[in-house]
Amino acid sequence: MSINSSSSNRFNRLENILIIGNGGRENSLAWAIQKNELVQRVYLNPGNAGSERINKCERIEIDINNKIDLVEKLDLLKIDLVVIGPEIPLANGLADFLREKNFKVFGPGKDGAKLEYSKSWAKEFMRDANIPTANFWKVNSLEEAKKIINSSSIPLVVKADGLASGKGVFIPNSKDECLRASESIFNGKFGKSGNVVVLEEKINGPEVSVFALCDGERYTLLPTAQDHKRLNEADKGPNTGGMGAYSPAPLLTEDHLNRIIKEIIEPTLDELIKKNIDYRGVIYFGLMITKSGPKVIEYNCRFGDPECQTIMPLMDQDFVFLLEKCSMGKLIGDEIIDISDKVSGCVIATSKGYPSEYKTGIPIKIGEINLSDCQIFDSGTSQSEQGQLLTNGGRVLSVVCQGKDFDMVFEKIYKNLKEIYFDGIYFRKDIGHQVRKNFSWEN
Ligand code: AMP
Repeated sequence: MSINSSSSNRFNRLENILIIGNGGRENSLAWAIQKNELVQRVYLNPGNAGSERINKCERIEIDINNKIDLVEKLDLLKIDLVVIGPEIPLANGLADFLREKNFKVFGPGKDGAKLEYSKSWAKEFMRDANIPTANFWKVNSLEEAKKIINSSSIPLVVKADGLASGKGVFIPNSKDECLRASESIFNGKFGKSGNVVVLEEKINGPEVSVFALCDGERYTLLPTAQDHKRLNEADKGPNTGGMGAYSPAPLLTEDHLNRIIKEIIEPTLDELIKKNIDYRGVIYFGLMITKSGPKVIEYNCRFGDPECQTIMPLMDQDFVFLLEKCSMGKLIGDEIIDISDKVSGCVIATSKGYPSEYKTGIPIKIGEINLSDCQIFDSGTSQSEQGQLLTNGGRVLSVVCQGKDFDMVFEKIYKNLKEIYFDGIYFRKDIGHQVRKNFSWEN
């Protein structure tokens, strides 16, 4: 089938959706997208063992780096919309390539993805647009870093410039630790991602995530969320990709949100337009609510994981239309989205040893799960030849529930977790402690 012959149809249909990625985030996107009755099939490339448990979903395996093959297969499958989940293909320009081939794509091009894949670029972007963020210094060598660290009178945070799977940020407690962190990055701990280092003023306050769906000009907001990045209870231990989340984040008052829109979201979109960047995808604003107001900690160019698993069950069947409108530059802006008035929570069950070394291939048994307003999205699973579900990652399952309040939500989640067994299973018992009235550290 020639590329051009089918391209004219692509803009009229919304039957076959392709999601790129293999985690809990992508499974929850598929789950939300399949709710729409126009959608016939949701393909996950490559997905994981949980993908085919989702209605209308099918796993496929296409090498996204083999561009000719990719276009041919997408044409054969009559793909109407491509949703790119993870940051790496976005940073490598997959969205640009597919748009050139006339596919509708949800996900920014390489230029927009730079908000995430270069922290120094993002900081300069914020400086240009006068967006509140911590002060920073971009450094190109250990010598330069040493000078700044030694002469600094304020505590600094050390960041590798490029993508590092969420592991490239160090929060040192002393100048010595700061120097060692810079040294490890310049010595190649993150390969090329550490050719440049960003030193940042350490700021304080609770963190919150805000998601704006953008069509290049306009945006619409999804429910807010808070995640728990640290491995252990009481938000201690090493940073992880995320151990759980809840949505919405009651910490954000209307006043905060108005400030965030005026001082952060709108200036970000204006600056993208000014820089000629046609951003069609989600901007994830990682924010800290400091004493002097909300500040940007980081931008991500994709949905967060586990925030995505938490938010998707709150969306109605029209969610896929939002993604499509973004891909086509056709948001009205501030659309009225039918968002559930329930609240949602997610706890991640991880493998023993995560976020460092862990084993895979461990059998998973799932007992009697309450599926009323509850979902299990596989994060890292595979299947044996005999059909046994196995662990296949550090983060294994996302256990998600909704309800009228957070106490009810987390009670259901932890009950469901009691029905999940695999050797070495670990999860935090205090996810959402800030919003659970019945929570006590003695529990
Ligand atoms: P990032 O990957 O940039 O989001 O950083 C990971 C985590 O490091 C954030 O969620 C914060 O908890 C923390 N962090 C990053 N930058 C700063 C900063 N300038 N001051 C204090 N904490 C920070």
